[in-house]
Amino acid sequence: MSFNDLGLCAELTRAVTAKGYTQPTQIQAKAIPVILSGRDLMGGSQTGTGKTAAFTLPMLQRLSKGQPVPGRKTRRIPRALILTPTRELAAQVGDSVRNYGKGLKLYSTVIFGGVGINPQIDQLRKGVDILVATPGRLLDHANQGTVDLSGIDILILDEADRMLDMGFIHDIRRVLKLLPSKRQNLLFSATYSNEIKDLADGILHKPELIEVARRNTAAEKVTQVVHPVAKSDKRKMLSRLIHEREWNQVLVFTRTKHGANRLSKQLETDGITSMAIHGNKSQSARTNALAGFKTGKVRVLVATDVASRGIDISCLPYVVNFELPNVPEDYVHRIGRTGRAGEEGSAHSLVSSDERGLLRDIERLLKKEIPTEKIEGFEMNFQDVPDKNQGGGRRGNRGQRQRGGGGGQNRRNDRSGAPNKRRRPNRRRQATASRG
Ligand code: AMP
Repeated sequence: MSFNDLGLCAELTRAVTAKGYTQPTQIQAKAIPVILSGRDLMGGSQTGTGKTAAFTLPMLQRLSKGQPVPGRKTRRIPRALILTPTRELAAQVGDSVRNYGKGLKLYSTVIFGGVGINPQIDQLRKGVDILVATPGRLLDHANQGTVDLSGIDILILDEADRMLDMGFIHDIRRVLKLLPSKRQNLLFSATYSNEIKDLADGILHKPELIEVARRNTAAEKVTQVVHPVAKSDKRKMLSRLIHEREWNQVLVFTRTKHGANRLSKQLETDGITSMAIHGNKSQSARTNALAGFKTGKVRVLVATDVASRGIDISCLPYVVNFELPNVPEDYVHRIGRTGRAGEEGSAHSLVSSDERGLLRDIERLLKKEIPTEKIEGFEMNFQDVPDKNQGGGRRGNRGQRQRGGGGGQNRRNDRSGAPNKRRRPNRRRQATASRG
């Protein structure tokens, strides 16, 4: 199947060809015709499946061909609204919209918090067709009267499950009240919780349901491996792997912001260019780090889970878990950064004996064991070290979280909004804290 077969116009097929895409991904093949037909859609697809293009391309086509709805205002006010959970994702979706829409006379802008509001107001005043936004800052604009959402024909909720995890449900409901009732609605989510179903029921009208990846399935093309290592040797092992295996673009995950900073500095000392990206960094610092990483100036990007959301680097070859995440689902999200859109990738986890419980939880979720590879000079057998969490990693971890200790505490302190699915968030406080 080609992009031409999906009913896309010449400008858009040219744009995807220019990106080097030869054929649509599964979600694109299924979703594009549905969206072009004007129907509502509930898309179940994980990150890395090409879902951004799946909604952006038909949205652009509908906007470029569409006639303004009779009675709607004729001046340029937004006709499509894409809501995303994080600033990074908003910026990335905004890039895709601009990129794919190059040949069309449509204007777009991206709105998120953490940066000055005035340039955004200027953009909105000039007039845009497509708005990509995080909910918090969008509401700020709505409250100030600097955005008019009365002309929205297409609403897209991207990574809706993440938005709910981050406590945005009230903000989303507030935004919905500002939209006209007659519109096309598209909702994308990697998981189907009851909350997502409730949200979908309230928004979507007779939606087409499309699902392309089983829930919680680790990207199939990603080779996963565990390297057992003493905690104190992790950094040495990482530097060795990077040097000896000549890894050039490595995304490394740590559990805490402080850990990310420290590791990044240590890698620099080892002669490996590195930058940290996390919720305490300013938006421009995050953007610079990401740009440096994309162009190859920065060899290693050290990130916390939240900061990594929405990072889209085509064909990212290596992901390293310097520490395993406390929430097993985050492992799946992390390794989803590599092996994107069918490319090969590999995910390496440096696992110390105290993380065995976390490893077991992850393997239970994946329903398979992750192969172990020992690295010479770092030989360590898990069996040699008593397992404190013996008798069920998940139970052990939950106990730790309830005591508010260890990684759980650190996650809570990560105000950039690390979603901890097992914790009932104080939704209002968290929503404010993590406002885009
Ligand atoms: P997404 O799931 O939207 O984050 O996309 C994941 C990655 O796949 C991005 O780097 C896209 O540029 C890339 N991609 C999207 N569609 C295709 C396609 N049809 N062929 C190859 N790569 C694609």
